[in-house]
Amino acid sequence: MVEHTVFLGLGSNIGDRAGNLKKAVKAIKEHGLKVERVSSVYESKPVDYLDQPDFYNAVMEIKTSMGPHDLLEIIQTIELDMGRKRPLLKGPRIIDIDILMFDDLTVNEGDLTIPHPYMKDRMFVMLPIVEIRKNARFPDGESIRRVLSRLKFETDNVRKIKDLDLR
Ligand code: ADP
Ligand code: MG
Repeated sequence: MVEHTVFLGLGSNIGDRAGNLKKAVKAIKEHGLKVERVSSVYESKPVDYLDQPDFYNAVMEIKTSMGPHDLLEIIQTIELDMGRKRPLLKGPRIIDIDILMFDDLTVNEGDLTIPHPYMKDRMFVMLPIVEIRKNARFPDGESIRRVLSRLKFETDNVRKIKDLDLR
């Protein structure tokens, strides 16, 4: 059985943000995904659609024998179970779970793009990844650390929350 290494991104900016992230981690485990590493939680200012509350974000590394589409289905089931509605693209959400990277796979399909298309621009994704896997690389060979070094100017918008453990 082939096990894939996958990075998932979590985000929440409605209600009990820490509680929502914890619930998502629990649900991910309950769906049989093996949780290897979980980052700290980072509070971040919204991007794209700016008129909304700040987010709590985290990244986790999981192992699964599932393929990318089945995994997408599971994370969408978890989002819906947790009461996520989608009134506004890029707007506030109880929980957002994204597939950031899946082994060194590149996927470009209508409903699924891997690596996640905006992750290289997002400090709140890149910082937690480098925290849990400092030598990670993109499928094109670029290191996480190199991407992060390009983003330095944005540091003010992301803050690590102390003493909050999602595991
Ligand atoms: P976003 O995460 O961009 O704010 P949504 O969570 O509402 O937006 O996702 C919208 C759609 O993005 C989903 O229906 C899903 O099919 C698609 N999608 C494409 N690539 C990915 C990915 N790597 N991870 C999660 N969803 C993805
Ligand atoms: Mg999403």
